[in-house]
Amino acid sequence: MSALTLQQWQQKAEQLTICGQAYINGQYVDALSAKTFVSKSPIDGRELVHVAECGKADVDMAVMSARAAFESGVWSETKPVFRKKIMMALADLMVANKQELALLETLDMGKPITTALGDVESSVNSIRWYAEAIDKVYDEIATTGPTELGMITRQPLGVIGAIVPWNFPLSMACWKLGPALATGNSVLLKPSEKSPLTAIRLAALATQAGLPDGVFNVLPGFGGDAGQAMGLHMDIDGLAFTGSTGVGKRLFEMAGQSNMKRVFVECGGKSPNIVFADCPDLDAAAQSAAAGIFYNQGEVCVAGSRLLVEASIKDLFLEKVIACGKAMAPSNPLDPSTFMGAIVDEIQLSRVKNYIDIGQKEGAVLRAGGDRVMEETGGLYLEPTIFDCVDENMTIAQDEIFGPVLATISFDSEQQALAIANNSQYGLAAAVWTSNLSRAHRVSRKLRAGTVWVNCYFGGDMTMPFGGFKQSGNGRDKSLHALDKYTELKSTWINLNH
Ligand code: NAD
Repeated sequence: MSALTLQQWQQKAEQLTICGQAYINGQYVDALSAKTFVSKSPIDGRELVHVAECGKADVDMAVMSARAAFESGVWSETKPVFRKKIMMALADLMVANKQELALLETLDMGKPITTALGDVESSVNSIRWYAEAIDKVYDEIATTGPTELGMITRQPLGVIGAIVPWNFPLSMACWKLGPALATGNSVLLKPSEKSPLTAIRLAALATQAGLPDGVFNVLPGFGGDAGQAMGLHMDIDGLAFTGSTGVGKRLFEMAGQSNMKRVFVECGGKSPNIVFADCPDLDAAAQSAAAGIFYNQGEVCVAGSRLLVEASIKDLFLEKVIACGKAMAPSNPLDPSTFMGAIVDEIQLSRVKNYIDIGQKEGAVLRAGGDRVMEETGGLYLEPTIFDCVDENMTIAQDEIFGPVLATISFDSEQQALAIANNSQYGLAAAVWTSNLSRAHRVSRKLRAGTVWVNCYFGGDMTMPFGGFKQSGNGRDKSLHALDKYTELKSTWINLNH
């Protein structure tokens, strides 16, 4: 497939037919209340579509259909090799519709089209990886004596509620869908109200691939309404959530108030990117530090939002990061050469702007950016923003801003770098740049983070688990470890004497 130009993407955007309905029991439907909300594009303010605003009644209906599908065995009791075949067909359909999915994502949440195309690829990869894995994962036989047999088997949980955020809508959905479907569960997916469109489109592709009705349902709507109804539901067996730490905590409460459903949460981050003076390549590290915070407009849970630099190289290194950041200024998201797109909505833009004001008030030094730009487009764009002289306890060094704002903190020793890095409620990711092998290992071990990168940022693939320490969450997405979230272990003890 040859790459499209800006004009070709614009033309496709004009011709695109967008569906805003919910998907329940293999059908597109309106919300039972007939309520809708408007999806507006952050790239130029255009109205995209009216989206079904699902609430408790819709969730109840979707759970009934998901439960009926689960109990019938039409998916849950099929051979793994059958589920593999259907999921591979879904992955192929996603590839065939890659441009449409990427365009929907860009229009809906403002990310550059090139990033969106990459997201579709990684989403496909997630579906394929679990499809390929599921007929190769064996159960266990315990080491019993000759008169008994101990079997340890995995069983699907049943009905899974997947609640996902707006920054990587399709990828986050597929990180859940891959292992949940492969293990035989039925799924209700609630996309973010800020970016529901790819999830809605994906539902029809799943049916087209052969997924039985009721196994995959999509419920667009607001968190306090459809999301909460899922959290409190008595017949949802497990919640797989990605989003903010605040909402993650509330889901545990809701599980406690209802049926003690399994709750796994992937939440926020404030990841430290630590650059020692013996960094093997300062130019590569600077480019990586800038991409680590400005990629996807900084709306990334693992964004390297705290840059920790050894004092002896701080000024030199920061100049390099500023130069790289300036080259990443936002531009039209439909232009394939654009690196930074639009901020998802006005609420998020003013939240990020507010943090920039707080940073200045608390005494950090604004070295680059800070302003809204390209207002004439009707879109929501913010300059790559870099602060220097940040104290580790300032608000901009502690709160997850979730926008293109970098806080630079200097340190004098390895011990101090580690203390600053771990001074956070979060523990999602961290990076360390050094030529010293022992230091790389020492620091990696002591960082309280689910992922540590050495001499790189954002590395990883489906083979590596992803998730957080501390208030960044529990459980893991990706890799075979993710199967634990969607299955119960059953111990069956058989007496062989009779
Ligand atoms: P959010 O927590 O506001 O919303 C996430 C989802 O939860 C949305 O679908 C929303 O509608 C729903 N929700 C909101 N309130 C709810 C409630 N009371 N009950 C049930 N559901 C509710 O997060 P967001 O603003 O969409 O996304 C940004 C956050 O997501 C950031 O904190 C970011 O770090 C995090 N995130 C984490 C990862 C990860 O893998 N750790 C990945 C991407 C994003």
